[in-house]
Amino acid sequence: MMVLGDRMSDQNKTTTGAASDAAGGLAGQPSDEDIAMGWTHTARFLTTASELSQLPSTDLPEIAFVGRSNAGKSTAINVLTQQKRLAFASKTPGRTQHINLFELGPKLQANALFADLPGYGYAAVAKGAKLRWQKVMADYLALRRSLTGVVLMVDSRLGFTDLDRQLIEFVSPRIANGAVRLLVLLTKSDKLNRSEANASLATAQEVLGEYTTEEADVAMTLFSALKKSGVGDAAQLIHGWVHAK
Ligand code: GDP
Repeated sequence: MMVLGDRMSDQNKTTTGAASDAAGGLAGQPSDEDIAMGWTHTARFLTTASELSQLPSTDLPEIAFVGRSNAGKSTAINVLTQQKRLAFASKTPGRTQHINLFELGPKLQANALFADLPGYGYAAVAKGAKLRWQKVMADYLALRRSLTGVVLMVDSRLGFTDLDRQLIEFVSPRIANGAVRLLVLLTKSDKLNRSEANASLATAQEVLGEYTTEEADVAMTLFSALKKSGVGDAAQLIHGWVHAK
């Protein structure tokens, strides 16, 4: 299991530019982070589907973004892709229960897809809708052949909910054998002080420890869209998943 970033030290990093210039060595040479962020910034809306059967079949590696409602998923997608319209598209009434697909890479040669999956956990949601959510998520996570990685947003102050654990269970066989990678973003970490942030990481490590096998590729990071911390690390990891395939 991998903990990205230098715990709280990158909480104080307000811009990635200066840090990556320093890390990048030669002036004018893009750093790995610059390359990864340049790639995530190419994301554009592709299509929306209310059922698994409506998703285009594809050989492109697909990264799914999942999390309970209000965990900060839209904001995380916005800051990774630098395109407000994308997650906005997923919040359009009528599309919130859909799987929204985004394409990445050169215009006519997409090399990956991001899938924004419906947020879950609204207390007010009727039982029928909850069962439908379970079916869509379980099917997607178990059956989507091109699924390469899952990015799970967990509110760093609230920790993992039962539904978050259930979601990991749906995909855990494919995580255990290394077919699908997992990155947990502990979101809104700007709201935590140092000891709270370390406690949040420790709890996440404990939860994810259950899914760690020899083959499993599981990572986590504190993440703040507001402070832009964890963003470059998350982009680099996802970029690496896609380009390793
Ligand atoms: P979603 O339902 O998972 O898509 O969640 P949103 O992205 O809409 O975020 C839910 C709420 O959390 C909004 O009020 C956001 O402004 C807030 N939020 C999201 N990310 C951050 C963050 O990094 N820091 C802080 N302080 N608030 C955030």
